[in-house]
Amino acid sequence: MIMMSGPIENIRNIGIVAHIDAGKTTTTERILFYTGLLHRMGEVDDGTTTTDFDPEEAKRGITIYSAAITCDWHGTTINIIDTPGHVDFTAEVERSLRVLDGAVVIFSAVEGVEAQSETVWRQADRYHVPRICFINKMDRVGASFERTFDAMSRRLGAHPIVLQIPMGVGSSPKPNVLNGLIDLVEMKALYFDPESKGASVESVEIPDEFRPQAQVWRKRLLDTIALLDEDIFQLYAETGDVSSVQIHKLVREATIQGQLHPTFCGAAKDYIGVQPLLDGIARYLPSPLDRPPVDGTTTKKRGTGKETRWPRSDEPFCGLIFKIQADRHGDLCFIRVYSGILKSGSRVVNARTGKKELISQIWRVQADAREKIEAEQVSAGDIVGVIGPKEAVTGDTLCNVHHPLLLEMISFPETVISMAAEPESSAERKKLADTLSRLSRQDPTFNAKVSEETGQTIISGMGELHLEVLRDRMEREFGLKVRIHKPRVSYRETIREAIESTGVFIRQVAGATQFAKIKLRMEPFFSEEPIVIENKMKPNALPDELVAVLKQAVSDEARGGGLIGYPLMNVKTTLLDAEYREGETTEAAIQAAATDAIRKGIAQAGSALLEPIMQLEVVTPDEFLGNVQADLNARRAVITRSELRGDLSVIEAEVALSKMFGYATQVRSLSQGRASYTMEPLKYDEAPPEVLEAMMV
Ligand code: GDP
Ligand code: MG
Repeated sequence: MIMMSGPIENIRNIGIVAHIDAGKTTTTERILFYTGLLHRMGEVDDGTTTTDFDPEEAKRGITIYSAAITCDWHGTTINIIDTPGHVDFTAEVERSLRVLDGAVVIFSAVEGVEAQSETVWRQADRYHVPRICFINKMDRVGASFERTFDAMSRRLGAHPIVLQIPMGVGSSPKPNVLNGLIDLVEMKALYFDPESKGASVESVEIPDEFRPQAQVWRKRLLDTIALLDEDIFQLYAETGDVSSVQIHKLVREATIQGQLHPTFCGAAKDYIGVQPLLDGIARYLPSPLDRPPVDGTTTKKRGTGKETRWPRSDEPFCGLIFKIQADRHGDLCFIRVYSGILKSGSRVVNARTGKKELISQIWRVQADAREKIEAEQVSAGDIVGVIGPKEAVTGDTLCNVHHPLLLEMISFPETVISMAAEPESSAERKKLADTLSRLSRQDPTFNAKVSEETGQTIISGMGELHLEVLRDRMEREFGLKVRIHKPRVSYRETIREAIESTGVFIRQVAGATQFAKIKLRMEPFFSEEPIVIENKMKPNALPDELVAVLKQAVSDEARGGGLIGYPLMNVKTTLLDAEYREGETTEAAIQAAATDAIRKGIAQAGSALLEPIMQLEVVTPDEFLGNVQADLNARRAVITRSELRGDLSVIEAEVALSKMFGYATQVRSLSQGRASYTMEPLKYDEAPPEVLEAMMV
């Protein structure tokens, strides 16, 4: 099948996000089936789904690596960026949100708003991503539409607007039997035929027993909408009604502005409610044209500046690589095209490195069966996979060679855990190094380096599961067996107080004098960047090239380690002054003076050891609550919330990562395998004195 995308206003770049197990994979599978991409519908429970094509994921039953899939719904091109459901991979979710125009957030009507939904919701707020919501699993015992709906407002600060209600939950003669849905816009009952796996949908009069309830919800819907527009308010006051066309228009505008979150419901597993959700994606979520243009930094020789690129074909090409996936044919780079046209066989420039890269092939990706775009080109607003770039890493901007523009880099969190890794046979050292560099190009939350003291290779990442998955990939994809040692916490250091420090370098080298002197201030400072550097030197204190060298040297030295040997974070360094001597102040002299200033500074300010604190959520049947709590207390967890969600108990806690190794096994044995948990890095806090003491022995 050859697929072309239509005009830009018909493109929807969306992500589907959810807490693990809420039904993201199942819903995606149904979407691909109804949009005609799949002839056979896969089931999560049989390990036969399309998006979980990574064997690692199929084995674990979770979605880890995002893939972009394109499908068509009545003339709307929907690009679905699959986002991971496990919280060890929040960075992947964040990275996807950056390139999306809208998202579908799936909630389970039984568990309601869970920790991961809350995290993702906040991230989506940060990137101003318009959202629609799907309350899934309405068929399950204990499902509650209203409870979930209330929790969305209460816990997320969402503004859900209900466009559908379930028929047959709670109030029906047989409780908890979901028959279908009521469409509150058209005021019709929708039935989904299970024989055809829901492919045929019947729209009929609302049965009498549901009519009163439907009218109450319809009034709520209109009351909300009338407040959005003065003319409609007038009309509504006079006639008591609003037309479907007007409802769609107003809901679309409010959704794009982030004022409303249209809310749908159903049971994806039972084929109920997926087509109305697809209609909702097409009707209410923005096209690339409805989103703000992107800004970037120009990197021309004549200095830097800001430039804006509009999503139009006549602008110079620029696009962001948001994902690199290893593939039999080489690395596949997923690109969001923000402006211009990208042609197969063309050369582009990487704005970060200035290096040219060849676009050898453009693919439209349909899970593991990829489709090549016929026209061999892709326009602004679209998302595709590209083969060719050799040196690009995730987060890089590719551009028209004559118009380089650096889009804001994606920021990645600090790694919290590390392990020593070695190949099973020492002949494979080189292969290990190559494999690790390839993996870290794909996944910037993972890195590897060789320890100077021990010569061991240390890999670092976002959690135990993250590193385990990577180890499995090395074996499966690269045929490399790796031994991994016990996980260790990635500690950091910070300074205790603000100080000023002067660094000097003066030396005779081969008869010539080398000299540099710099003065700087260091202070504790919280920001997303571990080390913030500000330049407050007099304009001509140093030539521009040397200022750049100085900044780099300060940053390298601070990241290199503090008094105890861990990288510094939460530090701001202000460059105050420099003494420059023509011919004597070389790059090497500046670097040496910077090192001197930073080392003296840290010694003077004193350092504090920081350890990663994790945000933990445990969901357990009530009977095991006591066990789970007692164990958490023993791990010195600080419990921040404890509540009932349906018939399950939920505990939220903050706990030091160092206390959490092996928790997966422990929580299983405490609850006869019935409790589940999620954990993600929250912050770095000062470690208690005994941690430091233990390090010193
Ligand atoms: P994901 O982790 O969000 O991708 O969730 P999955 O799609 O893998 O679904 C998790 C589990 O919930 C699987 O066992 C599904 O069969 C089941 N499931 C998904 N949707 C529904 C639903 O609407 N009703 C019921 N009863 N189960 C569902
Ligand atoms: Mg899944």
